[in-house]
Amino acid sequence: MLQTALQFSHTLLKEVIQEGDSVVDATMGNGNDTAFLAELVGTNGLVYAFDVQKQALVNTEKRLTELGLQEQTILLHQGHETIKETIPEDTQLKAAIFNLGYLPKSDKQIITQPDTTKQALDALIARLKSKGRIILVVYYGHTGGEAELALVHEYSQKLPQEEYSVLTYQFINQRNNPPILFCIEKK
Ligand code: SAH
Repeated sequence: MLQTALQFSHTLLKEVIQEGDSVVDATMGNGNDTAFLAELVGTNGLVYAFDVQKQALVNTEKRLTELGLQEQTILLHQGHETIKETIPEDTQLKAAIFNLGYLPKSDKQIITQPDTTKQALDALIARLKSKGRIILVVYYGHTGGEAELALVHEYSQKLPQEEYSVLTYQFINQRNNPPILFCIEKK
């Protein structure tokens, strides 16, 4: 069966992440991706995870503790627009993941925004290792979602093909706006 965008995001991460890598979860939420990344990088690696909601950190901390994965994670109660100031410039990142939109079953007013997403992308691109990947799973059915999808599409489409390969993955016959995946790979 074809993988959903969410499943495919993990496949794409797994293909490139190795033990000891530094990676970013730009939208922590309940920590599903943070835990997945922490397993892949192991105790010699590092996961920087960002969220603006305190509850996200509480939920993620709990999950990581249960799984014994806290050692290699840094949970930051900050927006991903602060990546530039937070992650040292000489840190080489192997991967980053975004789930854009709002956290299911939580406050639907707290959504990611085009301008802050762009700031995060700029900082990540500057730190991306060769063969590294930035993955965005874009939910766009809510108010404001289309604008963010447009930003991500335009941003990634403009990246020079000599330096980056960019992929989109999307089901085009499904109802209710299933998420669209973007993968930016540095050559
Ligand atoms: N990957 C998560 C789901 C993330 S949902 C999981 O596995 O559970 C999107 C998240 O982005 C929400 O938790 C929301 O609080 C967060 N968010 C919104 N604006 C943000 C910003 N500027 N920086 C970081 N996170 C943000």
